[in-house]
Amino acid sequence: MRLFESEAKALFRRSGIATPRGILAETPAAAVLAAAELGSRVVVKGQVRSGGRGKVGAVQFAGSAAEVEEVAHAVLATRVSGQAVTGLLIEEALSVDRECYLGIVFDGRSRGPAAVASLSGGVDIERAEAGVVRVPLSSLAPTQDFRLKEAISLLGLPSDEMLELTNVLGHLWRLFIQRDLLLAEINPLARTAAGHWVALDARVELDDDALFRQTQTLEDLDIDPSTRSDREASELELEAARIDRSDHRGVAGRVVQFDGSLALLIGGGGASLTAFDAVRACGGQPANYCEIGGNPSVRKVALLTRLLLDQPGIQSIAVIMNVVNNTRADLIARGVIRGCLDAGLEPAQAIAVFRVPGAWEEEGAALLQHYGVTACDRSISIDEAARLAVQALS
Ligand code: GDP
Ligand code: MN
Repeated sequence: MRLFESEAKALFRRSGIATPRGILAETPAAAVLAAAELGSRVVVKGQVRSGGRGKVGAVQFAGSAAEVEEVAHAVLATRVSGQAVTGLLIEEALSVDRECYLGIVFDGRSRGPAAVASLSGGVDIERAEAGVVRVPLSSLAPTQDFRLKEAISLLGLPSDEMLELTNVLGHLWRLFIQRDLLLAEINPLARTAAGHWVALDARVELDDDALFRQTQTLEDLDIDPSTRSDREASELELEAARIDRSDHRGVAGRVVQFDGSLALLIGGGGASLTAFDAVRACGGQPANYCEIGGNPSVRKVALLTRLLLDQPGIQSIAVIMNVVNNTRADLIARGVIRGCLDAGLEPAQAIAVFRVPGAWEEEGAALLQHYGVTACDRSISIDEAARLAVQALS
């Protein structure tokens, strides 16, 4: 769960990371009052859970009350990556000597957290390939401060600044671990004219799977997680969830809609993500993510297949699973065939690939053959099955 900047900064302050003085405001009038209370030139920052606000005018400076009001109106009217600004954070505008980047990220390659640091802080760390330091850490073994110092030392700063930044990174690291974060990022961390390091921006993502043990964090931030979906569920997603709930047999759901052309029914011991990535890697455009497993009923598979194939512009479906043990391949085959027929499509045309090796696979293959579909066995890897499906589309 991505936090708003104001919430992320509240966590920062509790962890000992300095932030500018700031007040939340919902309206331009409240922004003017907040600026008066801060008694300085201010930064008006749109609260929206997406980065790149600076570039679209969702972060603006203002001096006089009239200016604050005008800027507040303008910032409230911006959209950032399609998302509306829901509030304003009015902060004292500090005069800044230098900006850098510090972050603890979850690194998919090393499958663990990593410290990332760069002296070119500011708007676009993703682009700043040169001069970015990346040091893997472990969430299992305790990380000692010298590891963090090692990371910071690679930036080649004078020793007093190295110690100051190591200190900030230590706070960030402990925050990351204690709150079960996926991301804790300061961009920019600024050195003020007075020589203090202050987090001008804050980006924090909580791990949804750890929220059950982070009730204190949610309480600290006054967040009700049920009111916080990062994105509204689409009609397709809602209907898929209804289908899944309507029949207790097996998992067939967790549908996420995408704007591609190939429907996916995927699963088996983590293979759903593998299959999804494999389709993308060979140039395919998934229309959805949909996990199946736990021996879903024919009815459930049929309803989901039909639902996916009924989407506008969708002509075919790829069914790719890892070797199944508890799930019967023939029941999946039967469900997919029925779903195609119910959608008014010929299985031989609509099934781009069917790869469900394992229990009852011969029965499944015979059934598919009857409809002119050749099932893939386990000699066809998930990657190859994905490639075949994408080829079948073109
Ligand atoms: P983002 O574009 O969504 O990442 O929004 P930021 O909060 O990072 O704001 C964009 C830029 O505004 C930052 O990179 C800073 O350069 C600048 N900025 C934000 N707050 C302050 C501040 O208090 N003082 C100064 N001088 N610059 C600020
Ligand atoms: Mn930023």
